[in-house]
Amino acid sequence: MRPFTSTISLDEARRRLDAAVRPIARTERVPIEHAAGRVASADVTSPMDVPPFARSAMDGYAVVAADTAGASTSTPARLRQLDRIYTGQLSSITVTPGACVEIATGAPLPAGADAVVMVEETAKAADGAIQIFSAAAAGQNISRRGADIATGDRVVASGNVLTPSRVGALAAIGCVDVEAFAKPRVAILSTGNEVIEPGRTLAPGQIFDVNRFTLGAIVAAHGGVPEPHRPAQDTVGALVAALDACALADLVVFSGGSSVGERDLVVDAIAARGEMIFHGIAVRPGKPTAFARVKGTPFFGMPGNPTSCLSNAYILLVPFLRAIARLPPHAPRTVQAPLGRKIVSAAGRHQFYTVRLTDGVAYPAFKGSSDITSLSQADGYLEIPSDQSVVDEGAMVKVTLF
Ligand code: AMP
Ligand code: MG
Repeated sequence: MRPFTSTISLDEARRRLDAAVRPIARTERVPIEHAAGRVASADVTSPMDVPPFARSAMDGYAVVAADTAGASTSTPARLRQLDRIYTGQLSSITVTPGACVEIATGAPLPAGADAVVMVEETAKAADGAIQIFSAAAAGQNISRRGADIATGDRVVASGNVLTPSRVGALAAIGCVDVEAFAKPRVAILSTGNEVIEPGRTLAPGQIFDVNRFTLGAIVAAHGGVPEPHRPAQDTVGALVAALDACALADLVVFSGGSSVGERDLVVDAIAARGEMIFHGIAVRPGKPTAFARVKGTPFFGMPGNPTSCLSNAYILLVPFLRAIARLPPHAPRTVQAPLGRKIVSAAGRHQFYTVRLTDGVAYPAFKGSSDITSLSQADGYLEIPSDQSVVDEGAMVKVTLF
């Protein structure tokens, strides 16, 4: 054993991680079908007006506004209908004083008209004349050409996250694809002689790989592209070879072997290939966590215990990955709830304690760092700072929801 001589605080770990962030610089063109959630890497200015023509915003009648002056229910204006315009067509007819054209929402405004009266404010008289029951103001119910987006307007700025509405704005100006920052490639690799891939038969002493899948899910949900690797054996040689196999990634996440046992050799592999930035954080779960740089690439060495690994992924990996991906910080929802049972926490370590919410009460759900159900059967977690050791039953706690 090579015990931890010291651990750093969670705050200090966060500071060192923040300092190590290098936002991704690579860019690529992304079809707009796949652009949602991506980060634009260049401004997009519109080459056209939207709408490209003046159009009606209502189903009704295109009129000369002056013809309707003083119109009311008792004294309607009477206009002669010249034509009917549907969407997707142009009318060659000009609306002259005393006349009108029936028009559909979205259809081009005919020449001569300067207002649209909605159909609800009209009626067709027995003689075929169109009665208008309210005075129209010039411009009423018309979307001017370029009213939404004018030629030269900036539709998306570099650094914007492409929300569904921004994808919509790109679509409105006829974009087929958009320049976006590449998603960070995140190599994910489990270590341990006992860890095998699903689909195989467990031999005595073996377990199925959990961390590759929890980490992969987290990475995919926060803007990265998970690149899973086969589990590596617990030898320095195998781990160094595994590091080398991840050389093309933007971020490397190993799990297991990061502690201080004889077979915990991730530290030795880092010594062979990179520089350690920290090893050991005063948190529970998740103390044996390493962070390093391997030939310029950031490297997380997560604990092998599935709950420790995933807890640290939420707390440390997610903010780091999002910063690299140029995504805004994740803001998980929180709720206040009374604690259903007293919790005793290890002094000197910042504890993340999982809870299940039942009828608005937070019940402890943490079983052990090795138990994935500590998380999978919890709704969220509360934080117990390192200088606090007891949270009493009934105390109001802030629960961060998963
Ligand atoms: P380690 O951090 O390598 O000392 O592993 C701590 C515990 O987590 C051991 O019981 C391992 O068998 C287990 N473990 C390590 N890696 C994984 C993994 N990828 N999936 C599930 N359990 C793991
Ligand atoms: Mg191990």
